[in-house]
Amino acid sequence: MRRLGIDLGTTNVLVYIPKRGIVINEPCVVALEASNNKVMAIGQEAKEMLGRTPESIIASRPLKDGVIANYKITQAMLKYFINKLSGFVRLIKPDIMVAVPAGVTSTERRAVIDACIAAGAKNAYVIKEPIAAALGAGIPIASPSGHMIIDIGGGTSEVAVISLGDIVASSSVRVGGNKMDEAITNYIRKKFNLVIGDQTAEDIKIKIGSVLPLKKELKIEVSGCNTITGLPESIMISSNDIVVALRDVINEIVSAVKSVLQKTPPELASDVMDKGIIMTGGGTLVREIDKLFTKITGVPCQIAEEPLLCVVKGTGIAVENLDAYKKSVLWAK
Ligand code: ADP
Ligand code: MG
Repeated sequence: MRRLGIDLGTTNVLVYIPKRGIVINEPCVVALEASNNKVMAIGQEAKEMLGRTPESIIASRPLKDGVIANYKITQAMLKYFINKLSGFVRLIKPDIMVAVPAGVTSTERRAVIDACIAAGAKNAYVIKEPIAAALGAGIPIASPSGHMIIDIGGGTSEVAVISLGDIVASSSVRVGGNKMDEAITNYIRKKFNLVIGDQTAEDIKIKIGSVLPLKKELKIEVSGCNTITGLPESIMISSNDIVVALRDVINEIVSAVKSVLQKTPPELASDVMDKGIIMTGGGTLVREIDKLFTKITGVPCQIAEEPLLCVVKGTGIAVENLDAYKKSVLWAK
């Protein structure tokens, strides 16, 4: 194996090996020993510690709000995953392509590249997330035509128009799946005086979450803690409740889409009108989001196949065809 692609998301880290597929798909969480910052656990194991760790252990997300909050920890995480791979594939000094949020600074980019080299890469490259997402969604990004992509991740949503392999107009907002969870928590606290945990909020979103009223309303029983009595309690909540809860978060993403459409040169905007908008990222799995975006923007919106995997597949395509996508890749300086 000589090449691999990595999606360094705010929620999940994925690794893809061309012709082999996805070999790692784990939460982007690192658990540290509080006293000396020593790494205790990474990925799924660390995620299970979130919210229930003793004071001596801190579980943290090294990528926050689409930026690298702590690059030492990000480096440790990358190194861990790359080393883990050598356990089951023969990795000989691979070339590595990492997708990073479009907004990362050159210092952060350098840190990612250094981490890959330190972990044994021969060469390391970075590609902006929306470009990787578009590639992974099967969009011919190198064509001289405008393509719009909306990637709704955990911590951020990125909207970009791509033409000739590069970003022409873009916007990134710090809302995504996590803010949806928070909005659900707040709504349930206000309406039902019930406090629920983060994991419960995410479960509700996945099981019944919708952004438009559904023909057949979905319901789920939710347990939490009553804010007045302090006692445990269960209530029923419906997909219509979630529609209301998610309204503000959705509006923020919609505003970003509108602002990018306004910044897009007219010729490219008309391409987008013709071809429609492609949506990627885990946040697009909330029900009816494509319908709502189509309705509000007036442009047909379509969710890509396997939206959670587009970015990492895109990194794989880019690293396999470096020459073809030279313009889309940021090289180490
Ligand atoms: P990132 O690129 O930031 O790591 P991802 O694209 O992996 O993010 O998406 C993670 C987000 O997708 C999380 O907020 C998660 O709750 C959400 N998500 C995953 N599956 C679903 C689903 N079936 N319905 C709604 N949201 C989902
Ligand atoms: Mg992502």
